[in-house]
Amino acid sequence: KPIATAKDPSFYRMVEYFYHSAVQVVEPALMEYLKKHTHMSEKKRRHRVAGILKVMGSSNSSLQFEFPLQRKSGEYEIVHGYRSQHSVHRLPCKGGIRFSNAVDLEEVKALAALMTFKCACSNIPFGGAKGGVCIDPKKYTVAELQRITRRYTLELAKKNYIGAGIDVPAPDVNTSGREMSWILDTYIKTLGFSDINAAACVTGKPINGGGIHGRVEATGRGVFMTIDHFIKNKEWMSMIDTPTGYQGKTAIIQGFGNVGSYAAKYLHGEGVKIIGVLEYDCNLTNPDGIDPEALMKYKAGNRGSVKGFSGAKETGGDLLYQKCDILVVAATEKVLTQDNADKVNCKIIGEGANGPTTPIADKILREKKILQLPDLLANAGGVTVSYFEFLKNLNHVSFGKLSIKFWRDSNTALLDSVEKSLKSASVDAKISPSPQFQDMITGASERHIVNSGLEYSMVNACENVMRAAKKYNLGLDLRTAAYITAIEKIFVTYDEQGLCC
Ligand code: GLU
Repeated sequence: KPIATAKDPSFYRMVEYFYHSAVQVVEPALMEYLKKHTHMSEKKRRHRVAGILKVMGSSNSSLQFEFPLQRKSGEYEIVHGYRSQHSVHRLPCKGGIRFSNAVDLEEVKALAALMTFKCACSNIPFGGAKGGVCIDPKKYTVAELQRITRRYTLELAKKNYIGAGIDVPAPDVNTSGREMSWILDTYIKTLGFSDINAAACVTGKPINGGGIHGRVEATGRGVFMTIDHFIKNKEWMSMIDTPTGYQGKTAIIQGFGNVGSYAAKYLHGEGVKIIGVLEYDCNLTNPDGIDPEALMKYKAGNRGSVKGFSGAKETGGDLLYQKCDILVVAATEKVLTQDNADKVNCKIIGEGANGPTTPIADKILREKKILQLPDLLANAGGVTVSYFEFLKNLNHVSFGKLSIKFWRDSNTALLDSVEKSLKSASVDAKISPSPQFQDMITGASERHIVNSGLEYSMVNACENVMRAAKKYNLGLDLRTAAYITAIEKIFVTYDEQGLCC
């Protein structure tokens, strides 16, 4: 059955479909590019374009392995692990590692392909990869999770699937700085023993282990920044008959994990009323608005569940179809499908998740004049700040330390007030030169640089995607525009470096 109309398409075929839809639009421009930059005949140019597009659309290599785990109970179980490297036109290739029951080879292949196009669309010089372990992490103890993560890393190391110049994992669904720390430690004690850049073998690490300030919030912040860029744009808002700005706007967040919660926090900060939150175990609503930070705190102290939160009422699954201005989909793939797209009642969708919309849902939503801010663009904040962390690790110095003097000079007033309040809270009058204080200032300085770098990158990517949408007359189809932005970029790389070895 054609993917364009399939009710439940395979995830990998879905990504292929979006890629090929963009190829159809951009192919003449690629021919034009070669005409301008080479002396090839038309026939040769056609072959070259077709060849590069074939390579770009194929998945480079994938790893699939199984290993035993002895559970706390004494029983043995076989754990299934995966890592897929979609493209190696730029190295290292990059992408998260997820722990979920839905993980299989097809899922990681699709997610790795999305990483290729996401990085290119945002001008982040990485190839695309993704990995995962097929487990429900809630059913394992922390010690078991640590053993799984370490063994998973060993399998990657054995097959040369990890390393600063090869492949660099990061957090994804159900993984965080904790797992990244275990990965780094395992790598350092094995393959990376004498690797001076070992710390750059993984990103999303805790600060003490070589992480970077602002990485935890980065994906949600990027989702917000994308919405922010479009919502303030008169032309784009008039295309969906919506006033610019945040005044009186409401939002529903589907998936209140790392991405959804921070996106909600920043939207709330602009005055957007968060009227609903959909989670795996319960949905919450409050027409007067939910306080995202209070919910984040509650969830952290309630074993990862939002159930029982006093700042909202529990409600049913129909919350997804409740009227709102902004819907953030920040859980997993294929959430918006043929079955529900028609019922969605919002103006803007921010795709915090990877692949949340099937091709047929994408079409239905466009016909309803809903502006979809696609995954390739909207959730690129995470990998963007991963790139900053990677650079920090390669440089062996924090951005904060490098820039402290500059930051101090340009933020004297802020620093004075921090110093003053620290002094008034402490009896130690000599607090200024203390290491903790220095760390705090260095950290604040690094966060400042990271956030402004992220903003610069997100704004640029938004502008490039808007430009492509206009150039190719795509109307509201920002997804195709984002793929085109990526394809144009990767095409030039392949053309310059050649396809064969
Ligand atoms: N897992 C995130 C994503 O899907 C981050 C990847 C990374 O930082 O490498 O974009």
